[in-house]
Amino acid sequence: MAAIGSGLHARKGTPAVIQTHAPKLVILGPQGAGKGTQGTRLSRHLDIDHISTGDLLRDAMANETPTGIEARRYMDAGELVPDDVVLRMLGERLGEPTTSRRGFLLDGFPRKVTQAEQFEAMHPDQAIDAAILLSLPLELVYRRLDARRVCGSCRSILAAPDARIDAIACPVCNGVAIRRADDTPDAIAQRLRLYKAETEPLVEYYSQRGVLVTIDGCGSQEAVFDAILHSIRPNLWGTGLAVG
Ligand code: AMP
Repeated sequence: MAAIGSGLHARKGTPAVIQTHAPKLVILGPQGAGKGTQGTRLSRHLDIDHISTGDLLRDAMANETPTGIEARRYMDAGELVPDDVVLRMLGERLGEPTTSRRGFLLDGFPRKVTQAEQFEAMHPDQAIDAAILLSLPLELVYRRLDARRVCGSCRSILAAPDARIDAIACPVCNGVAIRRADDTPDAIAQRLRLYKAETEPLVEYYSQRGVLVTIDGCGSQEAVFDAILHSIRPNLWGTGLAVG
């Protein structure tokens, strides 16, 4: 297997990644669609930064920064944090020196068309190569979110075998994985309403720009990952990056 350029994390049986351009990706889909899991794998595979605005906001809350304090009431209610707060925080993260050299995958951003437009205006040199949409039926989304547990130590995203079990052991680091504070039935329903109203129009937005890649998110993690790699290939090829 050959690796040229800024990054390679080849899996067994996965063809080489030859990279001459820093990929800029967005992953879209309802909560519970697998954006975090697939985003983590994909960014490791391509050796790019995985930037989750939800994680940045949770870190800010844990550290009780002014951004975190402001964001808390929106997040606990399942509401969107105001655009200016999110864009400022994301701008700071993108300003880290290695990010533009390596490339990035945005997870949880943009959440609405106004965010995508402002992002484009503020970062004209960071045009998105591919917007990956993980598509799956809402009943499955509810079931996944109800069973979702997140490790408090390593942040692995896990599924409880029974949604009535609150805490499970993390097989990755032996930590304890619990339900996210905003995975209550009311907050889940509110986030899914917001997804339909605010985030779904982004599908059309990226489709018009010719960068939308739609993936069936119902399959196994492995199948979804392989489908993503296969489908983003033309987008990245066109900008000088070959995947697989
Ligand atoms: P997530 O981890 O992506 O599910 O995000 C958790 C919560 O963080 C959301 O319910 C929002 O309150 C907030 N959040 C994350 N990303 C954004 C964003 N791009 N715009 C506004 N709020 C966001």
